[in-house]
Parts: sequence; C-alpha cells; structure tokens
Amino acid sequence: TQDISQAIFSQLNTQQGAAVAHVDGPALILAGAGSGKTRVLTARIMNLLQQGVAPWNILAVTFTNKAAGEMRQRIRSRLGPVASDIWIGTFHSIALRILRIECHHIGYESDFVIYDPADGLKVVTKVLKRLNISAQTMPAKKALGIISSLKNSGYRPDDLESASTLDTTVIAPVFREYQKLMLSFNAMDFDDLLLNLKEILYHSSDVLQKYQQKFRYIHVDEYQDTNQVQFEILHLLAGQHRNLFAVGDDDQSIYRFRGATIENILNFEQHYPNTAIFKLEQNYRSPQSILDCANSIISRNPRRHPKQLFSDLGPGEKIGLKVLPSADDEASFIVGEIQQLLSDGFAPSDIAVLYRTNAQSRLFEALLLRRGIPYRVVGSFEFWKRKEIQDVLAYVSLIANPRDIQAFERVVNYPLRGIGAASVEKIVSLAVDSGRPVLEAAALMAADLRGKARQSIENFLEFLASFQGGQDYLISDMIEEIVRKAGIDKDIRNREDEHQAQSRLENIGELISAATAFEKERPAEQITLSHFLEEINLGIETRQNTQEGVSLLTIHSAKGLEFPVVFLSGLENTLFPSPMSMGNQFAQEEERRLMYVAVTRCQEKLFLTRAQSRTMFGKTTFCGESMFLRDIPQELLHKL
Ligand code: ATP
Ligand code: MG
Repeated sequence: TQDISQAIFSQLNTQQGAAVAHVDGPALILAGAGSGKTRVLTARIMNLLQQGVAPWNILAVTFTNKAAGEMRQRIRSRLGPVASDIWIGTFHSIALRILRIECHHIGYESDFVIYDPADGLKVVTKVLKRLNISAQTMPAKKALGIISSLKNSGYRPDDLESASTLDTTVIAPVFREYQKLMLSFNAMDFDDLLLNLKEILYHSSDVLQKYQQKFRYIHVDEYQDTNQVQFEILHLLAGQHRNLFAVGDDDQSIYRFRGATIENILNFEQHYPNTAIFKLEQNYRSPQSILDCANSIISRNPRRHPKQLFSDLGPGEKIGLKVLPSADDEASFIVGEIQQLLSDGFAPSDIAVLYRTNAQSRLFEALLLRRGIPYRVVGSFEFWKRKEIQDVLAYVSLIANPRDIQAFERVVNYPLRGIGAASVEKIVSLAVDSGRPVLEAAALMAADLRGKARQSIENFLEFLASFQGGQDYLISDMIEEIVRKAGIDKDIRNREDEHQAQSRLENIGELISAATAFEKERPAEQITLSHFLEEINLGIETRQNTQEGVSLLTIHSAKGLEFPVVFLSGLENTLFPSPMSMGNQFAQEEERRLMYVAVTRCQEKLFLTRAQSRTMFGKTTFCGESMFLRDIPQELLHKL
C-alpha cells in the first residue's frame, strides 16, 4: 500500500498533492481549466481508500454518466474491485438509487417509473384538459417548462406563494394536479428525482441520518453548474460530517439557463465555514498560446475569482484563423484540414469540431460523410431525427406519397386542428382494410362526418392538395410554405420557451438550406421530392453508426473534455455570442464563459473559423466577426 500511495502522489504536483492529502472538513478546489481538478478528485478518492475509508462511505457526483464511468475505471485500474462499491454517478442517477429504497416515505412504490419530457407533456395535457384550461391560456409545453424551472429552484406546489416574481394563479393548480397525477401513475420526471430526494431528506430525520452516516466523504465535480436543489441535497447530506470536497471553475459555469447558480461556488465558504481552499495554477492540457488566448477572453468578465494559469508545455503554435466567404466554404475548409491532419498521423478521435448551435452540425456531417471520414455527433439528437424536422418531413412525405400512413398519423392533428384520435383511427383502418391511399380514405370518412371534424379534415386535405404533389414547386419554397401555412412555426413559439423555440426554428432553417443546396447540386430531372426524401433517409441510415471518429459537438457538451485538435467554428456576430444575449449582461458573461470553455478544450492545435455569409432559414445573411475575435491579441493569431 505504501507503493500505491506513492504512485498516486507521484502523478501530482505539490498543490494537487496538498488537495489530495486533505481528509477531514470541507474543501473547495477553485481552479482554471485543465489544471487537474478532475484528476485531483479521482486521486483524492483513491487516497481515502488507501487510508482505510470504506468504499461505500464515499460518494462522487459527476456531470455526465460518461465521466462517472471513466472515473470508476481509473480507480479500478489502480485499486481493483473496491471501485465497484463507491457511489459514483450524476445527481440524477444517485437520486434514483436512493429513491428506489426510500420513496415509500412520500407515498411512492419502489418500482416507480421515470417519465421523460415527452411523457410529461402528455400528463400536463391531461391536467389542462381536466382543469378546463385552454391551449391559448396555457400551452402544455409552456406549462411543463414553468413547472420544471420551479422544481429546479426547489419549489413545490405548496410553497408557490413565495415564488413572488411569478404570477402563479394559472400555474399553481396545474402544478399541483400534475404532481398528484404523477404520484397516482407511480411516475417521476427528471426534476422529481432531485426534488423528491430533497423532500425525503428534509422531512425524515431517520433517512437523513442514515445517508449522512453513509456518505462520510462527498465529492462533486463541475460544482459551478449545480442548481439550487442540488445545493440543498448536498448541504443536507454533508450536514453531519461536513466532508464536502467540491471542485469547479467559476469561469466555466455555462448552464445558468437551466437553473445553475454560480453563487453556489462563489458563496461556498459562507455555507461551509472553515473551508480549506486549494488553488491549482499549472495547466497540463494546453501550451501557453492557448492559455493566453483563453485569458484574453475571460479576463474581460467582471465578478470572477482571478486565476493565474501557467503551462510547462512550451509556447505552443499560433492559433489558426480563417475567414471564409460562406458557411459551406467554412465546412469544406475544416474538413480539408481534417484530411490533412489525418494524413499527418492524427487519429479521427484526436479531432473535435465545436459550434455554438446544434444546427451547425449538418454541414460538417454531410461533408465528412461524403469524404468517408468517421465522425460522431456528441450529446445531441442526430439532426434528422429531431421532432421538428420529422414533423416537417412528414408533410413533405404526404405530399409526395398520399399512402404514407405513418406521416399521416404524425401530422393529421399537428399542429392541433381538432381531429380526434377516434376519427384518425377510423381513417387509418379504412385505409388499411380497403388498400386505399390514406388521404383518399380520409376524404371518404370526412363525407360521413359533420360539423367541425369534417371541416378540419377537409381543410387539411385541401392544404396538402394545394401543393399538387410538389410539381412546379421548389422544395425549399414548399417547406417554407408548409411551416408557415400549417402554423408549425407559431406552434413552436407558443409551446416552447424562447431558447428551445429558437433552436428548433434554426433546425428547420437548416432543413430549408439543405433543400436549397439539393436543388442547386442535382441535375434538373433528379430534383423531385422522392429523391430529396431518399437522400435524407440515407442520411439517417448512415448517421446511426457510433464508431469512434471526429467529434462534432456543441460547446456545452464539450465541458470537461480535451482534444489535441480543436476547430471552433461560426465565430460570427450573428451566432456567437448568441444574438439572444444582446442587452443582457448576465447572458453576455455566460457567452464569454462558453468561449473560454471552447478554447480551453484544446491540447495542441486550435483553429478559429468564421463565415462572411451564412444561409439560415433559407435566407443568406451577411455576418460580421464575433466580438470575441477582437479580444484575442493579434500576435497569437496566424491568418490562414
Ligand atoms: P476542466 O476544467 O476542463 O474540467 P480539469 O481541471 O478537470 O479541467 P483534468 O481534466 O483533470 O483538468 O486535467 C487536464 C489534463 O491534464 C488531463 O489530461 C490530465 O490527465 C492532465 N494532468 C493533470 N494533472 C497532471 C499532472 N500533475 N501531471 C501530468 N498530467 C496532468
Ligand atoms: Mg474536469
């Protein structure tokens, strides 16, 4: 064991070693990117085990399941099977594990089910119907969004009066009924996992004591992105032994829009008196040029813990900067560079392409696919599988093919036009039984109905017929018209919060751009709806491979990761900082932190790119440079 301890500490510098050697009392490691925070947290757990702490007395909370797996693996490789007895996981997975044992305290049965947001939406819809609240007054998606953010801030239906910033007259009864229904279904949504755990710990002193005694040593990575409920859970669990070991970087707090409060890290010492504070100042990830670049960005944020970072990895290469006429050119530039790097001996998994918005991934995917370079889209729905894309494509399919029953079922009542499930079922069975196209079956059924239902179906069929099978239409125009006339854009705006709506509309814009490109590239006789759909479906097939490859990911999902080569794309004033952050100082600061996270993922080669024009929503707009580019000293940049 002497040897093992030595081995653990031999891989740490003095500052890191001091943090790892800390055993009792609260500790905060507040340090910049790449300084070894995650490494220290893992080593600290190993050191505790070496000191004789039982693995089941140790809890470690990570930000993703993947990070949890890697941490366990690292511990196992050094210390063997004891690694299995440590509780390592995300807040949600840890909460789930405790709730399976303790949920009877709040009336649940231990085999409760987890509802994802789509299930949750169905429940809210039921609630709204029961309470006779119309979709105009409160769209279901909106209600679910408000309920979720209330829960993330720690509110239950009973303490809504204190949520005074909000007009709760409409939402309060919906919230109450929603929770009641969920309980009667023996179901919890993601937010409930945390809130219910807190509830039990708060109200049952027996349970609280049990877990306080069990988790003698608690660790949290990425502490800067914890929200109010998570803070309270930790505060309760650490209440007896006070052994909370938190690591984080206030400069990397990027989930404010989901309820994370940077105050948790800034006020740590107030909540945990006599905290031992450790600073780590050596960065082991990046050469000096990258650190200087990162510092030039983040130092412009007020209200931060100042941090010094130095690196022993040498001055490093200059940062490549490339300005391209269009977003297509940007993608081909990046993919061209990737090809060069691969022939220079880099592996695909060494390389990451980062972007601010999900919609940007499509151009890269298309090109990488065409050139046969393996890639994976990290942490987001694959583009064509997203709901809004599938909805629009279902209309296109129905126009091209009046027999597409799946597409019919998907959109006959989307956006809501008052066609009941029973009518849909009748139409579908008529089509199936008689072998008629589903649109024809719908026309027949409509003739037998009366009133509003008949009118709705007829309007729907007329709408589809007006496109005349897509003849004489540009596909891009047709999609735009569908989105507008069927009211898909309006529906998205009504249902979703501003961020979500914006991102969904951007995705639809990306689909329109894809159609425009398709029309430009293909010879005239091949520009048909069915060819277009085929191409997209082919995309779906080929996109499903999950092999290791070039990583395509948003900056948000890159947190905690590192890559030898990083391309940071779309550095334009219309994209990054997000135009939605305009005029909001807090949002602007968060964009700046995002930029800092992006730059600090890089271990060796960093490329910054921007396009002077970008086609969004089928419209080409001209873009200026991102203000972040102006913050980087010229001498760090190498214009390509
Ligand atoms: P982030 O803020 O991005 O989460 P971090 O502070 O958690 O970064 P780590 O990921 O733990 O940093 O470490 C960054 C890199 O530096 C990793 O590759 C890690 O293995 C390496 N590293 C950390 N400390 C040392 C050390 N003392 N000697 C050698 N390499 C180290
Ligand atoms: Mg880390």
